[in-house]
Amino acid sequence: MTCIFCNIKEVILENNLAFAFYDKFPVNKGHLLIIPKRHVEEYFELTNEERTAIDVLLMEGKTLLDKTYEPDGYNIGINCGKAAGQTVFHVHVHLIPRYNGDMEDPRGGVRGVIPKKRIY
Ligand code: 5GP
Ligand code: ZN
Repeated sequence: MTCIFCNIKEVILENNLAFAFYDKFPVNKGHLLIIPKRHVEEYFELTNEERTAIDVLLMEGKTLLDKTYEPDGYNIGINCGKAAGQTVFHVHVHLIPRYNGDMEDPRGGVRGVIPKKRIY
């Protein structure tokens, strides 16, 4: 099967082992995805060097989004496996800018992976 992320052309940031590009169906404006260049299905298969390269682009991505969109916060998330909601099986880190008022009560953030458990 061909992998859409192995064939991404619209790269925004790049280093030796990783790419960053905008999500095609963004949760919010500026939603970035960061991937290793090597086709690896999930996060726990990455090498230390790939994790570092991804982390560097995460920081550079944050700087870029701060300048471009001036968000009020961020969610960083990785869906590891189908049970966790992963749909594209080339590991990617979501960097999602958050804006005051983008939802009624944002309390709990990534706890919302199980919506009724988000608020405790
Ligand atoms: P997952 O659910 O696997 O964590 O996330 C997959 C992400 O890839 C989703 O946020 C979805 O919007 C994004 N996506 C799916 N197809 C494409 C595509 O062709 N191009 C880009 N840039 N993003 C995509
Ligand atoms: Zn791939």
